Amino acid sequence: MENFRFKALAELNGRQPVRFEGTDKAVSAYFAENVFDRDKMRKYLTHEAFEAVVEAIDEGAKINRKFADQIASGMKSWAIERGVTHYTHWFHPLNESTAEKHDAFFEITKSGNCIENFRGELLIQQEPDASSFPSGGLRNTFEARGYTAWDPSSPAFIHDKTLCIPTVFVSFTGEALDFKAPFLKSLAVLDKAASAVAQYFDRDVRHVFSTVGLEQEYFVVEEALYHARPDLMMTGKTLMGHEAARNQQLGDHYFGTIPERVAMFMRDFEEEAYRLGIPLKTRHNEVSPNQYECAPNFEEGNLAVDHNLLLMSIMKNIAKRHNLRVLFHEKPYMNVNGSGKHCNWSLASDQGVNLLSPGKTPRNNLQFLTFFICTIRAVHEHGLLLMSSVTNLSNYQRLGTCEAPPPIMSVFIGETLQKVLNSLEEKIPNKKMTPDEKTELKLDVVGKIPEIMPDTTDRNRTSPFTFSGNRFEFRAVGASSNCAASLLILNTAVAQQLNIFKTEVDELIEKNVKKDEAILQVLRSFIVKSKNILFAGNSYSEEWRKEAEKRGLGIIDSITDAFKTYLNPKSIKLLTESGVLSKRELESRYEIKNETFLKKLQIESRVLGDLALNHIIPTAIQYQNILIQNVQGLKGLFGEKASEMIIPQMRALEKISRHVKEINIKVYQMIDERKKANAIDDTVKRAETYFINVLPFLDSIRYHIDKLEMIIDDELWPMPKYRELLFFH
Ligand code: ADP
Ligand code: MG
Repeated sequence: MENFRFKALAELNGRQPVRFEGTDKAVSAYFAENVFDRDKMRKYLTHEAFEAVVEAIDEGAKINRKFADQIASGMKSWAIERGVTHYTHWFHPLNESTAEKHDAFFEITKSGNCIENFRGELLIQQEPDASSFPSGGLRNTFEARGYTAWDPSSPAFIHDKTLCIPTVFVSFTGEALDFKAPFLKSLAVLDKAASAVAQYFDRDVRHVFSTVGLEQEYFVVEEALYHARPDLMMTGKTLMGHEAARNQQLGDHYFGTIPERVAMFMRDFEEEAYRLGIPLKTRHNEVSPNQYECAPNFEEGNLAVDHNLLLMSIMKNIAKRHNLRVLFHEKPYMNVNGSGKHCNWSLASDQGVNLLSPGKTPRNNLQFLTFFICTIRAVHEHGLLLMSSVTNLSNYQRLGTCEAPPPIMSVFIGETLQKVLNSLEEKIPNKKMTPDEKTELKLDVVGKIPEIMPDTTDRNRTSPFTFSGNRFEFRAVGASSNCAASLLILNTAVAQQLNIFKTEVDELIEKNVKKDEAILQVLRSFIVKSKNILFAGNSYSEEWRKEAEKRGLGIIDSITDAFKTYLNPKSIKLLTESGVLSKRELESRYEIKNETFLKKLQIESRVLGDLALNHIIPTAIQYQNILIQNVQGLKGLFGEKASEMIIPQMRALEKISRHVKEINIKVYQMIDERKKANAIDDTVKRAETYFINVLPFLDSIRYHIDKLEMIIDDELWPMPKYRELLFFH
């Protein structure tokens, strides 16, 4: 039998690393050169077409046909000058990847000439066959068409000689089949609600947008080793593997020197990212061996999400050039840290003010406190839904283990702000305040927030939602996910609270309460209603779990139960009343979440079963045969006297038999459970049955395989071990 592990290791030892030369230009010299941004639009569009796009980007205005033709033609000229031959509508179907279908610019005219063509109608709308994308029942089989429609707020870009046009993806009947369409709606809803509130403090505010900075964690693994691990190839994670004697316990990888090979990979993908206008700013080693992080500067939310998806696909491609693979799976290895995507989120007004920055004066602080407290209340109201939005098979395996926050929603704000909220709650009476009381309060509470709060650097790593000085950070999001799914909920929930806040303040103002006082009173009531969500202790502890249960916070114990939050009345009300998702769209998302979970688990279970039966058990038996031969040999040579000598061999033989037996029984039980579950027609019930009856086998079978790995001769073990996967670079 050929041992792929040794073949891979031999290949590696002889390999020269890929050298990456790259450009010696400063980043500013080529940043965004592949993006059709405002500078290029100004150059390639007529003045009026340019104005029309800017109007569409800034105000959400519609672009008429005439201008669409001009814009398409300008884009085409720009692209063709750069050697581009094809264009594509680039969209984000509900399968957590990006999709594209390329068409060539060139056309044969009636007179037989060959020309390059790209009309406005091709820019604005396309009709890809939607039948193979998840639709959760939104698409009838007889109506396979879907539409992609241009999103002018995210600029077109050139990737691999193709002009890519960011688009939304909707069904023939107008329902969203993607993440972007509802996300854009949530941004608009948030803009409206937040601008109205921001105007209490600054009459000039016309728009508020969300700012998003996404820290992306990932692993790299040597490609030859990856190919020798069918589980990594098929599922993105290791389904077996005993932990290495050394993993992250020395804490020597975090912020350590980046291995040269990996550094070359980073420079290569960074260069590509810069050309696409992705403002990558930081890179460093993460906690686990072979785990890294990169983070761009924050950008407007829609752009940040598009850039993150684009970045992930660039990283995957460029890794291959370096004989590496990049893993975005949330938990590729057991017992070391998993990978998240920390969503840094804030609100900025068109006046250039970060609304979640405490500022220096009481007035700024009051504005800050308003947005701060409304966000806290939004998380309090819809924490479980937010947690559900990050729940899937792979992130479920990450949350609550090895430094990842547990799947219990809470908010950490640090000591200083906790004190501010406490005194707001204590000091504001529910009645009209005297002028003296007001001044005192402003100086005492609102005026006292220092601009930089020292304790915000003391991050509570165990908290899923933390305030970091001038933004919130949602840390439960999985590394592989399209975080629009979570951000659209956060945006809509915050908009809902801002609307309630505004209504209540206006009611008080009608009753002749002064504006500032009305704001303080409503803020106080918001604090009282939502302070339950605040938690500063250790979120890993058992006590917190019990306490969180008592407080009625969102705790996720079951993947499929978590999904149900999508359909509870509170979530439906939030998303339908705001117009972000219709009930049918929510139902379809619920269906897709169940279906995706089910399929992924089915694949993991199949791969594990196959590997157990045709890699692991045969290897175990092979080793047993060697031991048996040895025992027989010793007995032949030494007769009676051999009985002492063969004790270790006999013990190993027994142990191996025990584990092999357990693996064998369990694999067939698992297959049986799958069969039973597969017979269930209803997707949701099938997913639940998989969760209850199939998922536990993944751990219990793995347990015995990992034990075998420790007994069997290293020379025979067929798959790369953790020490090789995690330490080879
Ligand atoms: P840390 O690991 O300490 O949290 P990083 O530098 O890795 O910090 O990432 C912080 C992220 O937060 C960056 O993407 C940064 O641009 C982003 N960020 C900073 N300010 C804001 C803001 N106002 N709104 C959204 N994101 C922000
Ligand atoms: Mg970070």
